[in-house]
This record gives sequence, structure tokens and C-alpha cells, in this order.
Amino acid sequence: AKNHGRGVHRFFEPVLAAQIRDRRSLEHDLRHAVERGEFRIVYQPQMAVDSGTVVGFEALLRWQHPERGAVPPDLFIPISEETGSILGIGEWVLRETCREAASWEKPLRIAVNVSAVQLHAPGFAELVHEVLVVTDLSPARLELEITETALVRDPVRALATLRRIKAMGVRIAMDDFGTGYSSLSNLRAFPFDKIKIDRSFIRAVDVNRETAAIMRAVLGLGRGLGLPVLAEGVETSAELAFLGAENCHEAQGYLLGRPGPIAHFVEHTREAQGA
Ligand code: C2E
Ligand code: CA
Ligand code: CA
Ligand code: CA
Repeated sequence: AKNHGRGVHRFFEPVLAAQIRDRRSLEHDLRHAVERGEFRIVYQPQMAVDSGTVVGFEALLRWQHPERGAVPPDLFIPISEETGSILGIGEWVLRETCREAASWEKPLRIAVNVSAVQLHAPGFAELVHEVLVVTDLSPARLELEITETALVRDPVRALATLRRIKAMGVRIAMDDFGTGYSSLSNLRAFPFDKIKIDRSFIRAVDVNRETAAIMRAVLGLGRGLGLPVLAEGVETSAELAFLGAENCHEAQGYLLGRPGPIAHFVEHTREAQGA
């Protein structure tokens, strides 16, 4: 609806008040969502481009709200970061995913998203260590996905935490590569093991010369730094063929598998039965 002149205030204030109420109720519900069992984790396969085999899964959080239905993570994660409830939520995700991965017959990797708030919270490295001990998951099977925006808050502290986690044998991936504003210096300054190139760079890579040039440059950067590159958001076989031709290491996207309950992927997590 359009607002004109003096009508604006009369119209705007109730709307704003309703938005604030709505936001407060979401904040409140988020604080109780773990104990109420409203979260579940879906898994999306990550594939080696050359062999076409599944090498791991990314854990993605889903919130089923009793009245609102499915609330997307791009909406509730930022709210939970602002209120701090991400700490309990993120701990729950880490415990659940490590326990799940430890139960697989195949020693595949599990990639877990870590928020800036978690990374900067006191005791995060200790939490990771404790969860690995309790679940008996081999540290080499855990990969933490961190966006570079998570590093800027307190880079010195972030670096110290990442070094301690890396010393346990856990891997660190730079998530959403290319969407931040200082990706190159962050790659040099922090102990990353992998580059996850954001899905905006894969779209139409097979037909768009500029997109292809950027993708080739990132792959060259990965080779130069000795870091494997995973391309996110692969939706078409032409995009996958491009990645194969350019020797991209890994890929993830709807073409290769949508995020789903781990039960959908048992053929990947179980050893093949005797011949
Ligand atoms: P992200 O870490 O970059 O995760 C990838 C997102 O891309 C996921 O969205 C995934 O479902 C989606 N995706 C995967 N393949 C394709 C594709 O081929 N095409 C398109 N268009 N999209 C694809 P999702 O699950 O909605 O998650 C959104 C974001 O929410 C994540 O982005 C991540 O930043 C955050 N998030 C999700 N789970 C967690 C979590 O447990 N902890 C934290 N801190 N953040 C999380
Ligand atoms: Ca991620
Ligand atoms: Ca990403
Ligand atoms: Ca993202």
C-alpha cells in the first residue's frame, strides 16, 4: 500500500509495532526451540568431481515452528546470532551431527556451519574437543565451515581459536568464498584447508565468459595455495561438466543431491554388502 503525507504515521506505527512484536515472539520461540525438539538436521552430499563419489555431507539446520511452519535458516540464524541463542543451537547441531557421522560405516566427512558468535565465544575450541571425545568421531572427519565475515569481529581471537581447532586435526573451510570483501588476505592470514566458492559464481558458468574466467581464477588460486576448491550450488550437468574440465575438486548442489534426512543417503554411508 502507498502512504501519502500525514497518513503515513497513522498507518506506519501499527505496522512497525506488529513487526516488533513478531520479531520478539520469534526471538522467544528460538530460545526454546532446542528443548521443544523443533529443530532437525538435513544433509546435503558433497561429491568428488573426478570420481563422482560422495565424500561427505554438509549439515543444514531446519526449524519447524508449531504455528509458522518451516522457518528458513537465512531468517532465524541472524536473529539467533543477535540474541545469543545461536550458542545453544550451534552446540546442539555440533553434537547431533558428530554423533550421526560417528554411526556411519564409511568414514565420510561431516561439514558443520559455525557462526561468528560461536567462533568468538569463550570455550568454543574446548567444546569442539569435548564433542569429538564424547562422540568418538575422528577429528579428521569433521570440517567446520566459516564465512570470512565471521573473522572480522576479532581476527586475533578468531585466529587463535581456529589454530587450536586445527591442531586437533579438524579441517576448516572458508564458506561463501568471493562474497566477502577481503577474501584473498583472509586466505593468507587464516589456516583454511578448503575454499567453498559461493553458488553465485557457478550460475551459467558454461555460457558466461566472465563467470567462467572468475571460476578458473579461483581454481588457479586454490592450486597455487594447495587448497582444494568445492563449488557450491551446482544445478545443471553443463555446470558440472565445466567443473570437471577445469579440475575442480568437489561439488555440491541440487544436481548432485538436495539436502534431506540422512536416511535418504544410506547407500552412501553404508559399506556395500559382500559380493
Ligand atoms: P550455506 O552454508 O551457504 O549453505 C548452502 C545453502 O545453499 C543451503 O541453504 C542449501 O540448501 C542451499 N543450496 C544447496 N544446493 C543448492 C543449489 O543447487 N541451488 C540453490 N539455489 N541453493 C542450494 P539453507 O539450508 O537454506 O541454508 C542457508 C544458510 O543458513 C546457510 O548457507 C548457512 O549460512 C545458514 N545455516 C544453515 N544451517 C546452519 C547451521 O547449522 N548453523 C549456522 N551457523 N548456519 C546455518
Ligand atoms: Ca555452509
Ligand atoms: Ca556457502
Ligand atoms: Ca551462505
